[in-house]
Amino acid sequence: MNQINPNEPKMPNKRWDLIIIGGGAAGMAAAVAAAEAGDRVLLLEAQEKIGKKVLASGNGRCNLMNTGALKYYGNPEFAGQVLNRLPREELERFFRAHGLALASEGERVYPGTFQAQSVLTAFKAFLEMLAVDVRCSVRVEAIEKTAGGFRVRKKEGWDEGARLLIATGGAAQPKLGGNECGYAFLRRFGHTIHAPFPALAPIMTDRKGISGLSGIRARGTISLVHPDGERRTESGEILFTEYGVSGICAMQLGRFARPGDRLEIHFLSRWFRDADEARADIEGRRQVFRRMAPEYLLNGYVMPKVSFAICKQAGLAMRGETIGELTEEQIRAVCETACRYTLQVQETRGLSEAQVTAGGADPEEFDPGTMASKKCPGLYAAGEVLDVDGDCGGFNLMFAFAGGILAGRNGRKATQKGDDGP
Ligand SMILES: Cc1cc2nc3c(=O)[nH]c(=O)nc-3n(C[C@H](O)[C@H](O)[C@H](O)COP(=O)(O)OP(=O)(O)OC[C@H]3O[C@@H](n4cnc5c(N)ncnc54)[C@H](O)[C@@H]3O)c2cc1C
Repeated sequence: MNQINPNEPKMPNKRWDLIIIGGGAAGMAAAVAAAEAGDRVLLLEAQEKIGKKVLASGNGRCNLMNTGALKYYGNPEFAGQVLNRLPREELERFFRAHGLALASEGERVYPGTFQAQSVLTAFKAFLEMLAVDVRCSVRVEAIEKTAGGFRVRKKEGWDEGARLLIATGGAAQPKLGGNECGYAFLRRFGHTIHAPFPALAPIMTDRKGISGLSGIRARGTISLVHPDGERRTESGEILFTEYGVSGICAMQLGRFARPGDRLEIHFLSRWFRDADEARADIEGRRQVFRRMAPEYLLNGYVMPKVSFAICKQAGLAMRGETIGELTEEQIRAVCETACRYTLQVQETRGLSEAQVTAGGADPEEFDPGTMASKKCPGLYAAGEVLDVDGDCGGFNLMFAFAGGILAGRNGRKATQKGDDGP
């Protein structure tokens, strides 16, 4: 990280109460909350516009909260403490009070329009009405502690503020602003950084098992099995790609996938617990389809291409044989493979395609009520830059918004009381 030159000629034209680096979910929420608490706020965003990830989230629908059981990793206790300090009902109230109607699909909460743009419109309106100075296409290059707060340097010169919030997000998806600078800023102030790695990431597998399946969507359960037998299972839609598997349930396993693991797909889980149960039904199809090719055995349960791949993995030659010619052993093998279709894990698609970064700044070094650093008075962090990541379903945005609001709302009070930091 560049050091700030103390002889820097440019002087800041204004001293801010709070400078926020990063105009994503956490940064926007913090800016609104802080300005409402009376702060003069400067929001700096490296991209040409604020909220790019929010806009891309949930396939453009922005799944911004979840009302179900919390599903966090990294430091789930810290995530729980943050959401105790800013309970979900209060977060809902915050959105509604800022002109955003909400709608739910099960436990997932969205803007009422199911359009991420509505979220951004609400934040932009309040940033403007509260006179937050929002500057886009401005990348912060260095930060430094001063006697009265912090100096923040960009190409355009530097600014000075009493408090500084690092809301730079994680390293996932560089095309939407993901980068590692927040970790460098926090490390500079003595914070521990746990190495970032992809969470919610598609998984690359051996090519043989996915041959002919690219573009196909199937429903079922998918298990990630480590060499020691440890197993994690997700249910839902599985999307086959030219490199492996994607879709929500595969991506949720991405956080835990390592080379040497295997994936087991149970394509028939909606109907049968296991291969024995499946066989009782599928045996009956021998007569019905006796003159047809083996993939007809699974007709209606899976797409023909998936059925073909299952039969191949079950050891059938697939060179013109008919169902009537199959042995009992072969039928059993097809049923077993349909309930445990195996793919070897190579790796994930990495941070460039992950939706979220696991790892980051150690949350133990921050106060979950204010997001204040315990290492450096006046310094705050919120959102994905911290070592907290959640399942699909709105958990990541919820953590970012909640942390941002707490940092914005409570920072001023904490500074006035003089209890900001250790
Ligand atoms: C495709 C996709 C879909 C997703 N869908 C969902 C979903 O539906 N629900 C959900 O809960 N989560 C979802 N997520 C995850 C969620 O978007 C993030 O966890 C969340 O946006 C994190 O908020 P944040 O404020 O910490 O970081 P971000 O929203 O990433 O914002 C950080 C900002 O800081 C800026 N910045 C970084 N460095 C600097 C610098 N040096 N100077 C100035 N600015 C800087 C970046 O440009 C960026 O705009 C999705 C993510 C992706 C990529």
